[in-house]
Amino acid sequence: MTNLIFLAPPAAGKGTQSKRLVEKYGYVHISTGDLLRAGRNDGTERAKRIIDAQDSGGLVPDDIVDELLKERLQQDDCQKGFILDGYPRNAKQFETLKGIFNELNITDYLAIYFDISMQEAMERTLGRQNCPKCKRDYNKFYGPMMPKEDGICDDCNEALVTRSDDNEETFKVRFQTYLNNIEPLLKGYEAENHLVKVDANRESILVFEDIDKIINEG
Ligand code: AMP
Repeated sequence: MTNLIFLAPPAAGKGTQSKRLVEKYGYVHISTGDLLRAGRNDGTERAKRIIDAQDSGGLVPDDIVDELLKERLQQDDCQKGFILDGYPRNAKQFETLKGIFNELNITDYLAIYFDISMQEAMERTLGRQNCPKCKRDYNKFYGPMMPKEDGICDDCNEALVTRSDDNEETFKVRFQTYLNNIEPLLKGYEAENHLVKVDANRESILVFEDIDKIINEG
């Protein structure tokens, strides 16, 4: 399977589309945001650096992310095809990933750029909620994703949680960080002929249909 690299600002639907692709094709979903969140609680100096960066909306230092990512890509399950969600996020990471792909002999990949307006991404971000038990995603401002009872998971009755960085102030920094860094990534993948774009302002099912088509057309 063609490996996928998702390029997108916060709340553009990377997570939702990844879930669908995992279900349909068995992709391995690698989210650097998730890898980093898993490293927040071990009380180390590294955990402190992760928390500081994530909660301010900035980028976690490259040395931490690069190591976690390389370790993950070397695991056997990645050979069936992976989605890279949240990496690369700057020009340096673009070069690092090139190096990792060379080293691991990964040549079949496509970068998918989720084009979305800041307004749409902000509304989605501020409504985002998730069940800590079954991991189902909700959105309190978006009908099809609203829980039946406010703040409670439909499936397991658990109280829903909001990510600590899903607030307006942090969102704005995260979006600006994204804008400051995305251009060289788009240029880099375009120059390699590895870039496709989807309009992510639409319903997630329509975005999925586009991605599905892209995958099947190669
Ligand atoms: P995400 O879950 O992709 O929205 O990422 C949440 C946060 O994790 C980001 O705002 C960054 O602080 C951090 N993060 C995720 N991926 C990276 C990366 N590739 N480089 C640096 N920081 C990252």
